[in-house]
Formats: sequence, C-alpha cells, structure tokens
Amino acid sequence: MRPELQNGGVGSSCTGVVKIYWSGSGEVHALKGIDAVFPPAAITALVGPSGSGKSSLLRILACVDRPTAGQVFVGSKEISAMSRGKRRSVRRGLVGYMFQRPADNLISYLTAAEHLEMAAKLRGSDRAGEAEELLDVLHLRSRASHRPSQLSGGEQQRLALASAVIGGPVLVVADEPTAELDSVSGEALMGMIGQLRDRGTSFAVATHDPIVMEAADQILHLRHGALEAETKQSRALSVIDASGRIQLPPEMLRLFPGRRAVIRLDEGEVRITPP
Ligand code: ADP
Ligand code: MG
Repeated sequence: MRPELQNGGVGSSCTGVVKIYWSGSGEVHALKGIDAVFPPAAITALVGPSGSGKSSLLRILACVDRPTAGQVFVGSKEISAMSRGKRRSVRRGLVGYMFQRPADNLISYLTAAEHLEMAAKLRGSDRAGEAEELLDVLHLRSRASHRPSQLSGGEQQRLALASAVIGGPVLVVADEPTAELDSVSGEALMGMIGQLRDRGTSFAVATHDPIVMEAADQILHLRHGALEAETKQSRALSVIDASGRIQLPPEMLRLFPGRRAVIRLDEGEVRITPP
C-alpha cells in the first residue's frame, strides 16, 4: 500500500525498503526497512552518520540501484520490480540527480547552455525559454557560453542543479550537494533550491550541512540503515528503545548543554526541560 501523500500532489515514497549488499567480506545490511514520503514542493533532508545508508537510499530513489525488498514510488511509477531498462527510462524522465563533487555532475567540453540543452533532450522536454529562465533564476545567465573549467565550484553546482530540474522532474535527488562548497556558495545554492521547491519540485537531499537542514521542510534521521526520527513541521517522531531511551534530534539536544533534563508528566504529556 502506498503511504498517503500530503498536498494531494505527485510525490515519491518508499515502503519497507531493504538494501543488502553482498561482497567478498559478507553481507552488508545498508537499509533495514525504510518507510518515507517525499512530498511535492518540499525539501526532505536525509541526515545521519557516515555509513548510515543515505547514499544507498538516494541511489534507489534515483532509480540507479534496486532495493533488495520493499516498494518505491517515483510519482505514480512503482520502480522496485522494473527491469534495468524501464528504470533507466524513469530515471531520465522523472528524476534529477546531483552528486557531491561539482565536476562529477558536468561534462568538461559542454558549455552551460549546452548542458541544459542536453538535459532537456534526455528528459524529453522542449518547453521554450525554460533554459534561459533557469539560467536567470540560478544567476548563471552571464555564464551561458562558459565550460565547467571556467566556472567556480558554486557556479558548477548551480549548473548541475539547473540540469537536474530542467523539464520538471517528479523528484530531484542530491547527495551532499554543498559538501565541497564554502558556506556562502552553499547558502546561495540552498536559497535557489528553496525557490525551485516553491515552484513545486520535490527534493531529497543527503547532508551533514546545517545550512541544508535549516532550509529543509522535513528531516529524516538515519542510523545503521533505519529511520530513527522525523522532524520539522513542529513535530518530531522519535523511537523509544526497549529500555525507554529516546534520542533527541540535534536541534533539540542543543537546549541541553549540561546533558541533564527534568522530566515531568503533565496532563498526559511528558515534558522534558533543562534543569
Ligand atoms: P552514507 O551515504 O550514509 O555514508 P552508504 O549508503 O554509502 O551510507 O552506505 C551504507 C552501508 O552500505 C555502509 O556500511 C557501506 O559500507 C555499505 N555499502 C555502500 N555501498 C556498497 C556497495 N556497493 N557494496 C558493499 N557495501 C556497500
Ligand atoms: Mg553517502
């Protein structure tokens, strides 16, 4: 069953997603049953320590990799049972992808304008003026005839973003897109991702960067391949373990610099406050 989507629009979702890698040294259980919804017109940040499964989940959402078990919807397409060829066509048509390293997103001999032309063609989109509009929104108009080596790291990532969103994909997946940028370029990139979100694009962004978490509408916390909490929209969903321990999301943990809390039962609600 497909989880309910908010806003009634086309979003993406996964249910019970498991990913096991088999390698010479044995099995790695990278994802252990992930249920998540990536609503339209929203930025979902995926956070968690290195090795927690962020990239594995993004590769599955981006139709690059297949889950070992579970269901994945990109828009109305259920991709987990699709052949490699069908997945490739969903990826081209419905998903935009951005890697961490600016250079990995771009082709050295194409100009910025040619990148957008190629990305639009791959997506099967020919909306007149869209490339020019994106170059304006992403402050790249004066760079249209430049090749990647003539662009700064921030400009390269903005071009990668433009290529990922052209043609209106259902989902844009970005794996640590600000990791190699200075904080000013990272903030500029996230500001523009925010503008594109406001036009309806759904983003799934793996990150360690507070700038991205700040801009996100929803934050999913991954640990050892499981979701441990969902925060933002003034709610936090956290797992209580068998001993009664609960993990506070980082932004709440900051309220407790002394790492001591007063716990009170107040009309059926548990209140946790600094001493
Ligand atoms: P993150 O992006 O959060 O750092 P990953 O999804 O890259 O996490 O990795 C999750 C786990 O899966 C790690 O233990 C990692 O070593 C393992 N892993 C990732 N890709 C592969 C692969 N192709 N083969 C074997 N193990 C992998
Ligand atoms: Mg990763």
